[in-house]
Amino acid sequence: MSNEQTRADVILIGAGIMSATLGSLLKQLAPDWKITVFEKLASAGEESSNEWNNAGTGHSALCELNYTVEKPDGSIDISKAIKINEEYQVSKQFWSYLVDSNLIRNPRDFIRPLPHLSIVQGEKNVAFLKKRFETLSNNPLFHGMEFSDDPETLTEWIPLMMKGRTLNEPIAATRIESGTDVNFGALTRMLFDHLKNNNVDIKFKHNVDDIKRTSDGLWELKVRNVDSGAVERHTAKFVFIGGGGGSLPLLQKSGIPEGKHIGGFPVSGLFMVCNNPEVVAQHHAKVYGKAKVGAPPMSVPHLDTRFIDNKKTLLFGPFAGFSPKFLKNGSMFDLLGSVKPNNVLTMLAAGAKNVPLTKYLIQQVLLSKEQRMEELREFIPNAKSEDWDTVVAGQRVQVIKDTAAGKGTLQFGTEVISAADGSIAALLGASPGASTAVSVMLEVIKKCFPQHIKAWEPQIKEMIPSYGVSLLKNPELIHEIHASTARTLGLSESLPLQMAHQTVS
Ligand SMILES: Cc1cc2nc3c(=O)[nH]c(=O)nc-3n(C[C@H](O)[C@H](O)[C@H](O)COP(=O)(O)OP(=O)(O)OC[C@H]3O[C@@H](n4cnc5c(N)ncnc54)[C@H](O)[C@@H]3O)c2cc1C
Repeated sequence: MSNEQTRADVILIGAGIMSATLGSLLKQLAPDWKITVFEKLASAGEESSNEWNNAGTGHSALCELNYTVEKPDGSIDISKAIKINEEYQVSKQFWSYLVDSNLIRNPRDFIRPLPHLSIVQGEKNVAFLKKRFETLSNNPLFHGMEFSDDPETLTEWIPLMMKGRTLNEPIAATRIESGTDVNFGALTRMLFDHLKNNNVDIKFKHNVDDIKRTSDGLWELKVRNVDSGAVERHTAKFVFIGGGGGSLPLLQKSGIPEGKHIGGFPVSGLFMVCNNPEVVAQHHAKVYGKAKVGAPPMSVPHLDTRFIDNKKTLLFGPFAGFSPKFLKNGSMFDLLGSVKPNNVLTMLAAGAKNVPLTKYLIQQVLLSKEQRMEELREFIPNAKSEDWDTVVAGQRVQVIKDTAAGKGTLQFGTEVISAADGSIAALLGASPGASTAVSVMLEVIKKCFPQHIKAWEPQIKEMIPSYGVSLLKNPELIHEIHASTARTLGLSESLPLQMAHQTVS
């Protein structure tokens, strides 16, 4: 046992994009608050937020077909697409504010413009894509989207994917230039550097083992120094559990009633990465296809140009799979350990309902490299096995809870769970994930600091001009935000990137 004991206003558990974002927001809103971060690994952004562990898509529903569902009457429901797009605009505004204020630098190191495309084959799918395009392109948030079912145009857009393709059924794609590739790992590290430079105490290699309420209403954390094994006690008025897949066990330890009857279902991921620079050079886009029947929505295959360590790379996947770990660096007992008396029925119900999904995920894990190459060849017909390696991606722990749809329902979104008095909050789930971090952390702030929100609103509006405003109802504002964030973040191909750098040099 160590004697180390501290008292903070805010403790953030985990050094991923969520804690980085909440810490950065609070630093602007309450600069004098004492903030401490505990992270069990040696550096920031090493789990799901790491650039090799996620797909780096700036999710704004420009190409992800699972965000636009066909209704029984044949029309396309775009409400989810609108929500995700608006949330991504919030993220871009906050990142722009940080760059404009010199709090982070060189946006090119974490965000790049990249066309987003959706591609489908077969008559039914082409008809769906066309309808989706017609519905979205009437909406100012999706301005600039193009549709084509002409193989020549598709060859211009995605030459690598069209070379050697047998065109025995209709094919079509949509394309929009305003898509982005985001290096969430680099962004997370930048945000933690900024926090460190502004008196936030960041303790790496410190594992939070337990969380308990003290008699005076604070939260006391039992924290273990991973190197020395020494146990420390730290207290705070407010705790954010941003442990990624590790959040559920910590929420359970807090004992708050809101954390009961909730379970987690881990889904692992795997990417194929191209090792041939000549192939990498032939593709410049994120191209999403349609999920296979039985596949979970987050395992929609996509072929992505990525910019990692300032180098152009090509990744395909993620292939979903099953592993009982809640974190990539987690334990094989994570899933079992999360089953508690209060959630066992919920978990059993989910287990019974999701046998086909579990079977599908286990089958996916057992795929050979050649079987994965066959899936890749649906995107790149001439792909050669020797040009591709596999990399293990991050774990996603999907929330299981009892809903109106039934006991033990698997959720595919993110959920903020907070105590009624707002003294503790946890983020569960992983989709759409990092792209919507700013909106989700604003939700935490709204839920947990209602007494401050009125006073903070002017500052929030300065950082995020669209805060509290429906972009959809304000097309002018969409235009302004697109132009200003593109300028600051270097997202407009027509704007020289030096312009973006001039603002921070
Ligand atoms: C395969 C895959 C593809 C994805 N693709 C995209 C995408 O294209 N676009 C997108 O926007 N999002 C994507 N996501 C989702 C996105 O990566 C996550 O939503 C996001 O990174 C979660 O951030 P986080 O901060 O909550 O968690 P993490 O980044 O996982 O960070 C949690 C941190 O908490 C630490 N921790 C956990 N338990 C403890 C403890 N007890 N004590 C101390 N520290 C602890 C962990 O070590 C870790 O560093 C993807 C995710 C995966 C897995």
